[in-house]
Order: sequence, then structure tokens, then C-alpha cells
Amino acid sequence: MIKLYSPFLAVLLAIAGAAQAQAPADPLVRPEGLRQVSAHVSIIPDNSVPLVPNVGIIVGTKAVLVVDTGLGPRNGAMVLAAAQKLAGTRQLYLVTTHFHPEHDLGAQAFPASTLMIRSADQRKDISEFGLQLANIFASRSAINAELLKGADYRHANISFGQDLLLDLGGVRVLMYAMGPNHTRGDVAIWVETDKVLFAGDIAMRAQPAFASPYSSLSHWLESLDRLEALHPTLVVPSHGPSGGVELIEGYRAYLKEVRERTLAEKRAGKTVEQAIEVVGAAMGAKYPDRGRLGGAVKAAYTEGK
Ligand SMILES: [Zn+2]
Repeated sequence: MIKLYSPFLAVLLAIAGAAQAQAPADPLVRPEGLRQVSAHVSIIPDNSVPLVPNVGIIVGTKAVLVVDTGLGPRNGAMVLAAAQKLAGTRQLYLVTTHFHPEHDLGAQAFPASTLMIRSADQRKDISEFGLQLANIFASRSAINAELLKGADYRHANISFGQDLLLDLGGVRVLMYAMGPNHTRGDVAIWVETDKVLFAGDIAMRAQPAFASPYSSLSHWLESLDRLEALHPTLVVPSHGPSGGVELIEGYRAYLKEVRERTLAEKRAGKTVEQAIEVVGAAMGAKYPDRGRLGGAVKAAYTEGK
């Protein structure tokens, strides 16, 4: 049974709408941009194109791990080709930072021999929400519809609860189920050997999106502490430019300010709608995405005392 209540739908529509408003470039992975960022890690940058993820390819002596697939099988095939160039005959693994379409719905392009890794929480997101967001994206443009035609979620070959260690041969990768931040099934990928962190949508330059009814502001703050404690030298977010811990610090400052301002309104007896207005007016100049700001205020208001 699908559960979709209106604030969640509003966030999804805002995500899709933001992508539409700027008349963006087509949501295609550009494998020619592949570049090595550390001893074992290469990325295909998203060039900040909406509905394109930063793709990671982590290369060990025995196996290769791909992080995120692009939107639909056509993008997935481009990512696969780039990975195969680096992997040769080595075993391929695939993991996604979360189940949203541009991160996950290219997985079908990978051969049956590729081992798909999912957290239990990510599997829950897929079984509860399925293709809802894919259908919204597909309704927004002809290219989205074409890319997503026939796309569906791939089953996990390897499932984990809290974390999973993968030794690719000379490079250790840890996958962490991060709990309900952007989605319930957020997974962070920590390339321990190189100190490179794939942070998903948990820390990026763009404003955080509370995209799930399970998204929690207080939990998100704990997740940021957890990621910072890894001391990454490079943070690759799932969208936008890579950077350092300032990406984590930026999210922390934003979430703390939202929480503080929202709780002040709540204590003053204001409704959530009033809090969204007031906090939006106070923070909107610095953080222009009012939809995302509203989502954060709602979460803070609901959780806070
Ligand atoms: Zn997402």
C-alpha cells in the first residue's frame, strides 16, 4: 500500500520542479569527464546538471565498486562502460547512495554478474515508495520519460544492516546505513584507504532536501557528526562540487539555524505555517530554495519541543 502524504509530495514536486524551472541540460552522465581523485578512486562529475549524480568508481586489485548509476538504463550503460574500462575482468560491485531514480535506476544496465549491494533500510524505501518519484520525473519531460522507460529496481545480491566492509584488494571500503536524513535508506560510502567519502545527499553544497516522511533533522545532525569523525580528505556529494569538511559544516550550520529559529516560533505559539513564513523570511536571502527550507522547518517543528 502506498503511503504518500502531502508534505512529502510537496517536497518531491519541489525537487522535480526545481529541476524543471531552470530549463536544465539533459540528465545525461558525461563519462568523458571521468577523472581520478585519489589512488583508488575516480569520479564522473555531474557538472551540476539536475538529475545527474556524481558517479564513483573505486578500483582495487581484485574488484571494482561503482557508486550510483545515473537516471535510467541508458545512463547506467554509460557508467558501466566507464567502469569496465577501469575494471577489465575484475568483479564489479554496485552500491547506491539512496534509492532515488538518478542514483539507482540505471542498475538494470549492469550484467547479472555484477553484485548489487543494498542496506535493509534502502530495501524498505524501495518496497514502500517504489517508482513514485520516477513517475513524477517521467511526467516532467520527454527525455526523462524516455530515460526511465521500463526502469525498475534491481534486487540486492548483498544486503546489510548497519554497515558492510568490502575489501576490493588493496583498498578497504565501508558502507554505512546512515538512517533517515534525505531518505531513510541513505548509504555513505567511505573509502578508508584513500580517506574519500561519498556522502550522498547528506552533505552537499545545495540546500538539504527532506525528501522522505521519515527524514529527521535531529538525526541528520547526528549523521553529520558521524561523517565528520571519519576525517575525510575529500567529500564527494551525490550532487554538485566535491570538497572538504566544509560541506559537512555548512549543512550543520544550516540545520542548527533552522532548528533554533523554528523552535523559537513554536515556543511563541506559532503554527508550522507561520514558522515556515518567518524562518523563510529570515533565511531566504542566504538559502533561496524556499521549498527545501520549508521542509527543514516542518521537520524541526514536528520533532522539537
Ligand atoms: Zn535524492
